[in-house]
Amino acid sequence: MRFLRISSRGWGRIVLLAGVGAFALTGTGNAYASVPAEQKDAGVAAIKRVAIVIDDFGNGMKGTDQMLGLPVRLTTAIMPFLPTTHQDAEAAHAKGHDVIVHLPMEPVRGKASWLGPKAILTSLPDDEIRRRVEAAIADVPYAVGMNNHMGSKATADERVMRIVLQVCKEKGLFFLDSRTSYKTVVPKVAKEVGVSLLQNDLFLDDVYTMHHVSKQLRLLKEELAKKDSCVAIGHVGPSGLVTSGTLRSVIPKWEGEVRFVGVSELLSAP
Ligand SMILES: [Zn+2]
Repeated sequence: MRFLRISSRGWGRIVLLAGVGAFALTGTGNAYASVPAEQKDAGVAAIKRVAIVIDDFGNGMKGTDQMLGLPVRLTTAIMPFLPTTHQDAEAAHAKGHDVIVHLPMEPVRGKASWLGPKAILTSLPDDEIRRRVEAAIADVPYAVGMNNHMGSKATADERVMRIVLQVCKEKGLFFLDSRTSYKTVVPKVAKEVGVSLLQNDLFLDDVYTMHHVSKQLRLLKEELAKKDSCVAIGHVGPSGLVTSGTLRSVIPKWEGEVRFVGVSELLSAP
């Protein structure tokens, strides 16, 4: 597990650092994501697809405008119940980006203040977890899916995840497992519940430097040589300007080889 480490960033997330080992861990990651049947049938050399998911919208975070202004389709993960939740969802939707709910969920380590309002805690009873998930979905306009903010403890808890994923299924939302815990029960429970699932392949910006984000994007490109599609997660906030700037410089270089898609495009039937 040499690629697993505690993040030093303020959110206190545990992250899977990208590298050969990390990709081995997520080797089945996008078993759910495949080239559409018609492309395979036609024998067309499919262009690689990448979904860039940007977490932590909703609180007027640094880099919000720069990220939303990128010239490709993104997936914006927007936290509920925060000052710019509605504004960011409206702006993202107007620019053609996918919107998903960035649900605050309990981490193994970290302060409650990093979680935001109405977080999903493993100490909550079933009915309160359900109420909070339903309220979060209702608070983020245009949401077509959900992923976890933090959540290394909650995503390892079967009781909690069964409720979260059941509500997603009822509301027609898919779930993107950010894989903040290698103990995640999300794949198992999602299969039981029958909810559509996607998984993160790598984090782009655990270190807030252009050097690091560029390196992660190179790893993403290498991974795309082996797979039809990948999911990568970046952030607005402390890394927002660096990540959006690095993406802006890389996007034209990938033209013709890689298509940037909303994460919902990587779904197949559960
Ligand atoms: Zn987050």
